[in-house]
Amino acid sequence: MNALLGHTVFGRVQWRIVAPDFTRMRHVPSAVRRILPWIFGLGLISGPALAVDPRPANATAQSAQAAVVPVGILSEPGLLLTFDDRNLVNWEKQLPLFAKYGAHVTFFIDHFDALTAEQLGILRKLKKAGHAIGCHGLRHLKAVEYCEKNSVQKYLADEILPAIQRMEAAGFPPQAFAYPNSNHSGETDQALLKYFRHLRSGCRIEGAMDKTEGAFVKIADAGKAGRLDGLSFHPKTKTDNLVVQATKAIDRLKRNGELLVLYAHDIRNVNESGPKNFIAIEPLEEILAYAQRAGIKFYTYDELP
Ligand SMILES: [Zn+2]
Repeated sequence: MNALLGHTVFGRVQWRIVAPDFTRMRHVPSAVRRILPWIFGLGLISGPALAVDPRPANATAQSAQAAVVPVGILSEPGLLLTFDDRNLVNWEKQLPLFAKYGAHVTFFIDHFDALTAEQLGILRKLKKAGHAIGCHGLRHLKAVEYCEKNSVQKYLADEILPAIQRMEAAGFPPQAFAYPNSNHSGETDQALLKYFRHLRSGCRIEGAMDKTEGAFVKIADAGKAGRLDGLSFHPKTKTDNLVVQATKAIDRLKRNGELLVLYAHDIRNVNESGPKNFIAIEPLEEILAYAQRAGIKFYTYDELP
């Protein structure tokens, strides 16, 4: 039942075995949630007494996997690079690029039940390299649309709980969820935050990336922000206007002590074929290099407190 919990101190995440998954107890005030692991660590509370899963009893099988989750607060401004769907073969090719810039990113996977053995093998490699694997729904359903046509309960039963179950069974207990098509509402947020520590939706660029207030979160507020809204980032060249805008957004992170989420899908060269939404490799490297030079940290969703 014990889980590995980490503590971010001066930008470094320190891991230790302490207690069950207290950070998922969203009905407990966040301040208390943060203290619980330490009390547990001192042996003041027995494990089984607090080994409560906040999910409904029929939600999912209790995970046998130790969840790796951080506690505490972040200390450095950061960029959360996220990639959606199942572009696993092309993502794997970029492992050396991410490693070159010390970047850990988050991959949000849909249709987990349809993954081949080869794709699961790639996911294990991504995880082993320090990247996070999040949930993107079982059938990539639009959350609000499905809830309106059916009900929130049916959405959870059809789209979320089976996805969590399959991910846990395969060794990837998800800590975060990304909305397909950024289709979200206050109601879906509330329902999903009982199962995930953080959500990702998206917001439109308002004039310029660095002027889009809804996309920036102060690092001190990271633990309170259940949902972080990312910006679509699919530049095709190094001189793409989106790259110029992203460098200004990175400058802002440093100036204001903030976090920014960017999202993309496939990663490939412009002359290669594949899904419509992709970021080309050159502009991705441009941004990785710029952020590294600026001293911006690359956080995964799992590192958020
Ligand atoms: Zn998607």
